[in-house]
Amino acid sequence: MPVADLPWPVPFEHSFAERLPGCYQPWQPAPVPAPRLVLFNRALAEQLGLGDVATPLLAEFLSGRQLPPGARPIALAYAGHQFGHFNPQLGDGRALLLGEIRDTSGRLWDLHLKGSGATPFARGGDGKAALGPMLREYLMGEAMTALGIPSTRALAVVATGEAVQRERPLPGAVLSRVASSHIRVGTFQFLAVRDDLAKLRDLADYTIQRHYPQLRAEANPYLALLRRVLEGQAELIARWQAVGFIHGVMNTDNMSIAAETIDYGPCAFMDRYDPATVFSSIDHGGRYAYGEQPRIAQWNLVRLAECLVPLVDDTDEEHAIALLTEELNRFPDVFARHWQRIFAAKLGLRPSSAGVDEVTVSLIHRFLELLQKEAEDFTLAFRRLASHLRGTDERDLGLEPIPATWDPWLQDWQRHIDATGEDRRRVAARMDACNPIYIPRNHLVEEALAAAQFAGDLGPLQALLARLEDPYTARADSIRYSQPMPTDWGPYRTFCGT
Ligand code: AMP
Ligand code: MG
Repeated sequence: MPVADLPWPVPFEHSFAERLPGCYQPWQPAPVPAPRLVLFNRALAEQLGLGDVATPLLAEFLSGRQLPPGARPIALAYAGHQFGHFNPQLGDGRALLLGEIRDTSGRLWDLHLKGSGATPFARGGDGKAALGPMLREYLMGEAMTALGIPSTRALAVVATGEAVQRERPLPGAVLSRVASSHIRVGTFQFLAVRDDLAKLRDLADYTIQRHYPQLRAEANPYLALLRRVLEGQAELIARWQAVGFIHGVMNTDNMSIAAETIDYGPCAFMDRYDPATVFSSIDHGGRYAYGEQPRIAQWNLVRLAECLVPLVDDTDEEHAIALLTEELNRFPDVFARHWQRIFAAKLGLRPSSAGVDEVTVSLIHRFLELLQKEAEDFTLAFRRLASHLRGTDERDLGLEPIPATWDPWLQDWQRHIDATGEDRRRVAARMDACNPIYIPRNHLVEEALAAAQFAGDLGPLQALLARLEDPYTARADSIRYSQPMPTDWGPYRTFCGT
């Protein structure tokens, strides 16, 4: 039979299940009455070699009503610090890993269902997911991917035909998610808290082999593992900061060892620039506020380092701690290096071989202070600067001229740009290529989700997705997608995706 005629043309691998017994429970998805494919990520499906699977079969396979041939579903175990409090037993309460598949370029991906029924890790939860939050995760993952930010991605959202009970009954859905892996800081914590050194070493070895194979040659691969995760997370968070993304629930169980954005719950993009911005309704103390994200990432990495102590040196704990601490202490510098480089580019400035110069760093900080003082829209501010540099009126693209209050900063910035000798229009073009004009604005996301959930109308969601998939190209027909939230809208509150 030609491959395309097979019901499921790609073989599953089960490296996690085979290598890491004790880190999961085999489990079956709950039956769903009437699966219906709501969103399907065709580009991702093609990348995975799944482009030719027939739609009715996709609804069956990606809702868990039937298992795709070769799938061996498991619920992953993990622990985690949630808002600073340790819970030794979390795990996939409503999710299952079907297995791993290789994409057309040979890269291995986890294929995972979310909302597929209660597992032994459900802790009283119903194991289900509502359509709205699953569509939200789809949208956010695609937006982040188009922004060049490492992220898990949704393959599909399938409505189950079943109501899930929240504050009121809501339509149920299953999200299928693709990730480099689902290994979290909390996966390490799960084994470390159980003092299972052999399994912990297996997990670290597996992680290195899967994500960072070059580390096997290092003198101390486990120390190098912390370094690599730290570097990946520092860059990831710098990229979040650069687009105003607020994850909202940076618990250690929601931090990926592969340094991808994972577990979209109460996340949202910041409108006006304010480092204290928090959207999540449960984040009362602002622990996961925009401006706290770098500090929290480092805090989470300290938790990972604690797990690695016996692997780094199993005879001399103090020595292991000293080595790991030295790595952890690099975080602020590594983060600052990425942050400065990315924000310099947002302002059209290029680092020299020695890095970002002091004048540029001070321009970045002064600009952010200005945005905060003037309560300016973060996303549009950078596009307006580029527009100003071009010297053309771009109000037809929704870009308002810059107010006189920016003048002192503006003059310093332009002087610095002009000193490079580069043509202003070229600088502006470079800025536009790294400053999105379309982000998932909260009022648009809510509008699209309400239409999809309660009126069965996917039009607004598709229209929004189309802009988010090409976030840097300003379109004259799309002003409503770039404009700040209406003044009578908000304050915005988000909820965990339960
Ligand atoms: P989250 O904050 O969404 O990452 O979830 C934290 C933990 O709660 C994870 O272990 C989830 O699997 C679990 N969980 C969340 N919602 C549910 C649900 N409806 N049923 C069972 N477990 C859930
Ligand atoms: Mg989670």
